[in-house]
Amino acid sequence: MSYVLAYALVSCREPPVSGPSAPSVPPVPSVPPVPSYGPYRQDCPWCGSRRLRVRVRGAGPRQGAPHRSQIERCADCRHVFRNPPLTPGPERSLVRAGVRLRHGLAARAMSRRCPEPESWLDVGTGDADFPLTARTHFPYTSFDGLDPTHRVLRARAVERVEEAFVGRLTDRHIAARLRGRYDVVSLFQYLERVPDPRAELRAALGALRPGGHLLVDVADPRRLFPVHPVGLNAELVAQGCTVLTGTRVHRVIARKDA
Ligand SMILES: [Zn+2]
Repeated sequence: MSYVLAYALVSCREPPVSGPSAPSVPPVPSVPPVPSYGPYRQDCPWCGSRRLRVRVRGAGPRQGAPHRSQIERCADCRHVFRNPPLTPGPERSLVRAGVRLRHGLAARAMSRRCPEPESWLDVGTGDADFPLTARTHFPYTSFDGLDPTHRVLRARAVERVEEAFVGRLTDRHIAARLRGRYDVVSLFQYLERVPDPRAELRAALGALRPGGHLLVDVADPRRLFPVHPVGLNAELVAQGCTVLTGTRVHRVIARKDA
């Protein structure tokens, strides 16, 4: 209700007068539309095996659409994933509400493990919806955002993040710049959308300082059962982390050991 009221108040205001006395507002970059699904892939994103089995057919939200997504399972490493993968973008309102709820729960879960981080990088941040929600639990934390699209520049323009990086964690120049810099790195519904999730996971750990915390949320907001790397926890342990959450959860919190 208050949101509607605030919107009405804003829309009734006089348009800002341009001139020397008007406050300077940074230009907000426009963003082209993103397709819902990426290309179909023949190999497992986690281990590279080509022995894929369809688990649930036609599970995409757009029944009858030309590029429906299905749930597939790797016969070698048991990784379950959506194929073709979803790409980040505007979602239906019900899905958005579910994502917002998960953002709040994830931030709260992290606040119990790491109550006062100074610096936080949200990877695949898009419009920085997650930092916006997390800020209520972490008012003194500096949030930066990284995204392959220019949406993150828009997020910086409206001050949802302090620093914005366009690209991937695995890009060499980005990895070099962010190495060992953050108290928390979050990957919110990100690993399931990238071509090489293990490489991204390692790069995320590279951006953490020793003792820093990693937050990985791999819940698919469209489905009740998880679509996530079975080998996620094992990989984190192999990379020198202590996993602080259970083995079969959608949200994994791990600490990078010194
Ligand atoms: Zn596999």
